[in-house]
Amino acid sequence: MTILIKNVLLGQNHLDVFIGGDGRFSRIAPNLDLAADTIIDGTDKAILPAFYNLHTHAAMSLLRGLGDDKELFSWLSQDIWPREETFDDEIIYWGTKLAALEMIRSGTVGFSDMYFEQKAIMQAICEMGMRAAVSFVEMDLFEPDKTKAKKEDTEKFLTLENPCPERISKFLAVHAVYTTSEELIRFAVETAERHNMKLHIHACETRKEVDDCLAAHGCTPIAYLEKLGALSPRTILAHAVHLDDRDIEIILKHGVTLCTNPASNLKLCSGAFMFKKLWDKGAFITLGTDGSASNNNVSMLDEMKLAALSAKIQSGDPTAGSAGQIFQAATKNGAAALGLDAGVIAEGKLADCLLVDLNNPLLVPNYNLISNMVYSADSSVIDTVICNGRLLMLGKKIDGEEEILRQAKKIAAKLA
Ligand SMILES: [Zn+2]
Repeated sequence: MTILIKNVLLGQNHLDVFIGGDGRFSRIAPNLDLAADTIIDGTDKAILPAFYNLHTHAAMSLLRGLGDDKELFSWLSQDIWPREETFDDEIIYWGTKLAALEMIRSGTVGFSDMYFEQKAIMQAICEMGMRAAVSFVEMDLFEPDKTKAKKEDTEKFLTLENPCPERISKFLAVHAVYTTSEELIRFAVETAERHNMKLHIHACETRKEVDDCLAAHGCTPIAYLEKLGALSPRTILAHAVHLDDRDIEIILKHGVTLCTNPASNLKLCSGAFMFKKLWDKGAFITLGTDGSASNNNVSMLDEMKLAALSAKIQSGDPTAGSAGQIFQAATKNGAAALGLDAGVIAEGKLADCLLVDLNNPLLVPNYNLISNMVYSADSSVIDTVICNGRLLMLGKKIDGEEEILRQAKKIAAKLA
């Protein structure tokens, strides 16, 4: 399938963009005279890189709005965990599709997921046309029987058929140092190295996590993870809110990727990510929404604005978390962390992109489109979404949307 987008705004210029059958931007130039399977009129639209959500629990979209405004532990124990215990592969399949629908509408084409029932998750993502890294989650609550079972299930995950290797990759995840034994973390590290997989870990989300780690191991979670060999360029740390100077040195030394999740951190009063300090020191920063149970959506547009505002209040500096830096974290950096040759609109790159409606009031006036996207836009500005050279949404229409909403409502009626 080939796509020709005519007369679209790219930077300061109106150009034609031709996407070849290989799913890459093939030609970008004025007045291209090329035949294509689909021709899109780009008049009054701008083309931008799509977003990559580097930390989420997609199927938790089905838990959106349950038990809000509660203290963390009572929220988890009363509202979330009892319902998650009832989740089977069918519920997770539709929950993942519900999140995918929302992500596509808000301009996201790829995400890093940390949840259960990976077969159902991969099937849902494959059918939605998105990209994703699907993680197997190592978590044993320090119970030896669970450690053994998790090791066996990891092997099953590794041999699980990937229905869509072109768009889906497998990661390993360690839930957190407070839920996962040293033995299982070491196993995850060795397995990730052996299979050249990335390792996705919740780390330093709350002050309590750091204090408990200091009490249990005599060091911070970052120093503990370093000791277990878990920090390397293959590591992605979600949250990373509570870091001391030594932690930052360790993160920089090992080339670790960080993923900030400002909405979840603000809602649960976890704290504010040190965006400016880490960015200025050269840390590699991406952006994620966390799950919809603690956000309550998976929109990277909302997340960009909150990341910028959180960076400013945390540092006391209004120049912190500039629109350009935040947009880069959500696009180019996210693509690189997922191992994709994407994240910019340029010939030869993978064709992941958005067309935004320049007649939407949120984008008028358009003095600075990146600033508008970070501080002003919501999902209503996104007109068309392309992933891997395929249309996921055209003129705000997504195939199969009605069925996903019908199924999600049916499941929610039972969860209520
Ligand atoms: Zn999370």
